[in-house]
Amino acid sequence: MSGATCARCDRQDILTGQGYAVYPEASTGITADHRVFFSTLGPDATEAGDVQCEPLDAMLYCDQCASALFTDEVWANAKALRVEIPSEEVNGPEGKEARSEVIDFSIALRIKRSGMTPSQARRDARAFGELWWRDREAARRQLVSGEPPARPPAAQSDQEAVGKEAPQRDGKAIASLVFGVLSLAAFVMFAGTPTAGTRFGVLVGIPAILLGHVSRSQIKKNQGKPKGKGMALAGLILGYLGVLPVVLTGLLLRIPGYR
Ligand SMILES: [Zn+2]
Repeated sequence: MSGATCARCDRQDILTGQGYAVYPEASTGITADHRVFFSTLGPDATEAGDVQCEPLDAMLYCDQCASALFTDEVWANAKALRVEIPSEEVNGPEGKEARSEVIDFSIALRIKRSGMTPSQARRDARAFGELWWRDREAARRQLVSGEPPARPPAAQSDQEAVGKEAPQRDGKAIASLVFGVLSLAAFVMFAGTPTAGTRFGVLVGIPAILLGHVSRSQIKKNQGKPKGKGMALAGLILGYLGVLPVVLTGLLLRIPGYR
């Protein structure tokens, strides 16, 4: 059977690749009167008479247990704690609850020191959970040393995509604007006179208009990608301005007695 057992609730319901890897800087052992203890203090913090004490290792939590751990409440209540449980009750419900509280507190205390919120800590634990399945020893080492996890590949490629996308504009929108500006220049210099200038205005104005319209409709169809909708609009308006003198003079020439 694939998957893993949750270290907190002991249910085998962590699917392969899932789960939250955490490291409690805690210890467990046997007291002088043969009870089992769990302590948020590390293995150095044995009490007089303890006959055995060992550190707890990094472990994997299920979804449900992660939801119980990474909360504002645990963050607020986490404190140094030592519980002692009669050995026959260690695996009973009360024993498990006491154990979970100590381990949750020690995880929270350790993470709190770095100023991380529960939701940030949950994201990190999930990233360590992924690493756990690829390279368990690396996940353990990083958790114990307190290194931040590598960003998950999905988040990384999202960020790269955003970074590359931002400056990208539609080539047709840029061309439309260039033609539009040339067309406007012709309009300003030769407005109203049927000279080579106005013909030049038409020559560059028409591509400005066509490219502007095509670019805008493609960007619209593609839900705003790439950028350049405003640029295309500017290009086609300037294109219309460049064509205007020829249209106007053409119309005026049709009026009888104008010339
Ligand atoms: Zn669990």
